[in-house]
Amino acid sequence: MSILVTGGAGYIGSHTLIELINQGYKNIISVDNYSNSDESTYARVKEITGVSVKKYAIDLTDKKSCTRLFEEEKIESIIHFAAFKSVPESVENPLAYYHNNLGSLVNILDCCREYSCNQLIFSSSCSVYGNSKELPVTEETVLSKPESPYAQTKFFGEQILMDAVKAYSNLRVIILRYFNPVGAHKTGLNGEPASETPNNLVPYITQTAAGLKEQLQIFGGNYNTKDGTCIRDYIHVSDIADAHILALSYLSKMDKQIDILNLGTGNGVSVLEVVKSFEKVNNLSLNYAIVDRRDGDVEAVYANNSKAIKLLGWYPKYGLEEMMKSAWKWQLHLAENN
Ligand code: UDP
Repeated sequence: MSILVTGGAGYIGSHTLIELINQGYKNIISVDNYSNSDESTYARVKEITGVSVKKYAIDLTDKKSCTRLFEEEKIESIIHFAAFKSVPESVENPLAYYHNNLGSLVNILDCCREYSCNQLIFSSSCSVYGNSKELPVTEETVLSKPESPYAQTKFFGEQILMDAVKAYSNLRVIILRYFNPVGAHKTGLNGEPASETPNNLVPYITQTAAGLKEQLQIFGGNYNTKDGTCIRDYIHVSDIADAHILALSYLSKMDKQIDILNLGTGNGVSVLEVVKSFEKVNNLSLNYAIVDRRDGDVEAVYANNSKAIKLLGWYPKYGLEEMMKSAWKWQLHLAENN
């Protein structure tokens, strides 16, 4: 029986492949359509672990391909990462987000039902909390209005899963609400896939520091926060990956059908604090400017992570400085290899 990792060539997916292999998991299958990643990720996973992962190039919104995969492989559990993840891109192209993020989930669930695959871990996001009045947010916090189509897809994804477990009594689901995953593998050999137009903060910082972008734009300096810039809970990607391995064991012994866990450090950090930390630990000076707010952004969100700590026995190991150091190490690795 195998574990299917969707989006395995992507940022969190590939770090999770590495941790699965390191923890001794054998039958791992990765699926990706390389829409926001590259097949070369698997060579990096092999360089770090010595293992070649079995891979398929499949678009999971295509039901026929999805079914063929379940036909060919005996899949016991799924870690479903494959999704579009950019807030601004989703504001510009909402239908692509609904089609991709929800279409793939529905197809996977349909195949789970048909092929008796009963364990699923779903990548959700802190964006489902919207502009929450209650901070830090717990899994019980009432969700405010999602601020972007991306956030909506994660909210609807969660709703679909809640309905699915009601209808299919064997199905077990863990929803992991990621806060802001950043940083790179400690070797510096794997990180966020390079993109010419990074939408997320940390790749934009590293590309600016590397001279690939002229200036970092900080979106909004007049929020009601400690320094006027938005607050997020940045968490090392390897800590997020670790939580998936623990969640897999929790899935098999869970006494309910569905559970939701926040994956954050619990620290609310401003955009300017991220920039300052990056400059300090890497001894660099960044060209940045504070500009208008970006559509779809929430002002502040950070996690109460005690449920994940209690139920998974998980604890985030890395601090902001290690996140910033490893992100820069990865950027330098990319520069050396291009
Ligand atoms: N951000 C920014 N400049 C950028 C990209 C992001 O100021 O080039 C800010 C963004 O407005 C938000 C924070 O950085 O306050 C984190 O954004 P990111 O896109 O990384 O993640 P999100 O929280 O939107 O999922």
